[in-house]
Amino acid sequence: MDSFFSDRISDVPRSFIREILKVAIDPTIISFAGGLPNRQFFPAEELQRATQQVFERYGRDLFQYSNSEGFLPLRQWIAERYRKTQGLEISPESILITSGSQQGLDLLGKVLLNEGEGVLMEAPGYLGAIQAFSIYRPEFMNVAVDEQGMVLEELDHQLARGNPKLAYSVPNFQNPAGISYSDANREAVAQRLRGKRCVLVEDNPYGDLRFSGTPARSFYELLPGQTVLLGSFSKCVIPGFRLGWLVAPEALMQKLLVAKQATDLHTSHFTQCIVHQYLMDNDIDAHIATIVDAYGDQCRAMMEAMDRHFPSSVRYTRPDGGMFLWVTLPGKLSAMALFEEAVKQQVVFVPGDPFYTDQQSHSTLRLSFSCVDAATIEVGIERLGLAIKKMLGE
Ligand code: PMP
Repeated sequence: MDSFFSDRISDVPRSFIREILKVAIDPTIISFAGGLPNRQFFPAEELQRATQQVFERYGRDLFQYSNSEGFLPLRQWIAERYRKTQGLEISPESILITSGSQQGLDLLGKVLLNEGEGVLMEAPGYLGAIQAFSIYRPEFMNVAVDEQGMVLEELDHQLARGNPKLAYSVPNFQNPAGISYSDANREAVAQRLRGKRCVLVEDNPYGDLRFSGTPARSFYELLPGQTVLLGSFSKCVIPGFRLGWLVAPEALMQKLLVAKQATDLHTSHFTQCIVHQYLMDNDIDAHIATIVDAYGDQCRAMMEAMDRHFPSSVRYTRPDGGMFLWVTLPGKLSAMALFEEAVKQQVVFVPGDPFYTDQQSHSTLRLSFSCVDAATIEVGIERLGLAIKKMLGE
């Protein structure tokens, strides 16, 4: 039967995370696996009011086909927010509304990647990006990330091997590792790509979720004309509406627009209108501050619990924001093997393996702190500590 399906789908890895989520349905299991935003912060009543408002304001026009670029007032709001929060001058014409930023990844693959062309990929990197680009059968050129950002020796090594068409980066509170690129690292990466026939994708769904540290400069500023910015309403407003956007230079935008039309004509006009109305009538900064407070507290609770319950040979990242942190086990202990033991202890996480494009077994894992309160984090980390000690024979 396999030969019936296209070659392009055969190479795409399945989402191991979806398999884990099935295990995590058991209410006695504590899950640090799902990378979901906390449902407690979905602005349900405000969205209900916004929906009522748009019915009254737009009537039947709400249900009509719309333009492929996206709802202009929403694009104007996004442009204004870039100006206000980051000092970036971006015109609404450079913004395309997408069905989640995930679709932005697919559209970039469609427009830029021929089979076998190079994609610089963070290792570990966002599984959804690995999946989206895999469809176009590129050659992944992996570059490790550490607490500073991309490991420059590895970047240099890859650039000496070939010319990537596309470079993928999540410079703020990376999924999965929770790290952020330093200013110096961003400058060094930008300098290496400057002038090359390579588009850098700056995927920034977590940028607003900062609970410590200071913001660094955007690649969009450091590498103008070569950077595509991806943004999303998933983490700060609502993921289920599937609303994201991309910012691209004019020539690339023309092609992305064609790809968007070919894919789904346009993003849901109805949900764009609702979110725009919500943004007009509510204080989004206050809403984001509430989320950031909770995630910051939960992240600190997780780090403190790990200090108490994990063997000191276990290392982990200290995020300044976002929803994830990244653990490295000692002595090449397999995270997949630990997973089995952890399920017995009634706690789950995502083993690192799916976040790498190579087929090796890794001793790293991702923990998400967004959906678990501090008291549950304490219990879950204690259980995970026990599982690790058991695996280490301690
Ligand atoms: N990029 C990254 C780094 C993500 O973590 C996610 C969501 N998990 C996405 C993109 C996709 O987000 P969206 O809901 O906007 O499609």
